[in-house]
Amino acid sequence: MKVLVINAGSSSLKYQLLDTDSREVLAKGLCERIGIDGKFTYKAPGKPTVDAADVAMPTHAEAIQAVLTALVDPHGGVISSMSEIEAVGHRVVHGGETFACSVKIDGKVMAALEENIPLAPLHNPANITGIKACTAVMGPNVPQVAVFDTAFHQTMPPVAYTYPLPYEYYEQDKVRRYGFHGTSHRYVTQRAADMLGKPIESLKLISCHLGNGSSIAAVSGGRSVDTSMGFTPLAGLPMGTRSGDMDAGVLEYLMNKRGMDIKEMLSVLNKKSGVLGVSGVSSDFRDLCSAAEKGDKRSELALDLFNYGVKKYIGAYAAAMGGVDAVIFTAGVGENDAQQRLAIASGLEFMGIKMDPDANNIRGKEAIISAIDSKVKVLLIPTNEELMIALDTAELA
Ligand code: AMP
Repeated sequence: MKVLVINAGSSSLKYQLLDTDSREVLAKGLCERIGIDGKFTYKAPGKPTVDAADVAMPTHAEAIQAVLTALVDPHGGVISSMSEIEAVGHRVVHGGETFACSVKIDGKVMAALEENIPLAPLHNPANITGIKACTAVMGPNVPQVAVFDTAFHQTMPPVAYTYPLPYEYYEQDKVRRYGFHGTSHRYVTQRAADMLGKPIESLKLISCHLGNGSSIAAVSGGRSVDTSMGFTPLAGLPMGTRSGDMDAGVLEYLMNKRGMDIKEMLSVLNKKSGVLGVSGVSSDFRDLCSAAEKGDKRSELALDLFNYGVKKYIGAYAAAMGGVDAVIFTAGVGENDAQQRLAIASGLEFMGIKMDPDANNIRGKEAIISAIDSKVKVLLIPTNEELMIALDTAELA
């Protein structure tokens, strides 16, 4: 089945057209600056990237229209008519407690998505706009499916998702740990079971999604039982620009001392902290590695702090699950940065993790990177959220 996968942001729209039978990406692209002036780049395998700089995109509907026009273009396109697209799958950031799995979108689902806007005020409205734009341009008869970043983590037990706050904040205000990157954690843990040749129900896995945003999930028997992100994606590990977990007392102290309001404080925590804040150099691990190699102490500290954070979660989640069969590395840093993977795993030999430095010297390919005699396997698995969204969509459409 040909499925169009859409990831709509407030001023952007990423897409892939996938064939779920062959699992091939037929085309992909990105619309940017929607509502400003519009910038559209797209690519089909084996063809050069097309940069259609001046497409007017006052709203997401024009962006979707531009995508469809490019897909059916007699020269650069990959399908002959729009009717070949049998379904559309949308990445939706927050499903709250309403959605524990992907769903086919109807009026009721749309109402529930609207209800969840307060939980993700920046992301969910854009996702809803993307869905409405597809309906407007493709018509109401093309089935659409919502796949949530939070859904996979809905299996967490109360002990993992409850915040130690007055309980009515959970009951009345829905404040709890939700977790994100669920589609990625679900994909790589399923692939891990395939690679290990064991049923996922029998496995205790720790999935490390390490990118610009990072989160770790403890997955026991195929179910997420804990994860490092929380009510928002600001929690957990130090990230590219996000602080991760922070003593709330620091907020009041800094806000008073530096005369910041809560909006400014949160902007610092989201955009100026993490490895960027500590290093003062970059949020990009490639820049940090080269700066550290040249002797920049703060870049070295930022990398150490990140690796130390990941290491602590691995230890914590092994304890939470009463053991671990495999640790998975995925996303930009996890897939590409052999040095950080080694640094994270070093010192974990006591819990049965032994890396093979030669096997680890690899980028972006599925591989077992632990030593043959490592009790706990260490796996490199490139994530593929778009494929997961397309497969869910094909199943539900
Ligand atoms: P993501 O958010 O998953 O796209 O990951 C983006 C991050 O991956 C970038 O900010 C880089 O820090 C990191 N990254 C990508 N390629 C490499 C690489 N070859 N070596 C180290 N880090 C990388």
